[in-house]
Amino acid sequence: MDRIYATWRNQWVQKLSSETDISCPFCSIEQNGMSNPDIDVKNYVVKRQKTCFAVLNLYPYGTGHLLVIPSRHVADLSDLSNDERADLFELLRKSIEVVKLTYAPDGINFGANLGRSAGAGIPDHFHMHILPRWTGDSGFITTISETRVISESLEQTLEKLSNNWDKVN
Ligand SMILES: [Zn+2]
Repeated sequence: MDRIYATWRNQWVQKLSSETDISCPFCSIEQNGMSNPDIDVKNYVVKRQKTCFAVLNLYPYGTGHLLVIPSRHVADLSDLSNDERADLFELLRKSIEVVKLTYAPDGINFGANLGRSAGAGIPDHFHMHILPRWTGDSGFITTISETRVISESLEQTLEKLSNNWDKVN
């Protein structure tokens, strides 16, 4: 399992559009996008809020796989202020509603992996996954390790989610 996640992280680091030399891929997305909004599009950032952002997983387990990430480089929820946690949870809630509207999934997994042993690819920067699920799709672990069921490009996913963002409360 460690090998799978380590590979995934390396691929992410290599593919990320970056103007600066920042070792954390999430901090790289955050800081490069702040200086150049065009880079946000290249990095598939769906939405920015005051202290956090939502971005497509570059290596999704399935269509519509989103990450919700605090802007600050912290490993744990407890490292965030109350305001940051509230901002993060609101972005999580809104992202789930947008995924529901866009894909009408049968269900949704959301959550976080804390620590590499728990499966975190980037354990030093807290992030939450949102993954739409359909009846009959493969199990979560199977999906991670073997089969990826992707029915559209990341560009298409970004466009759909962005277009629907203001349609939900
Ligand atoms: Zn970071």
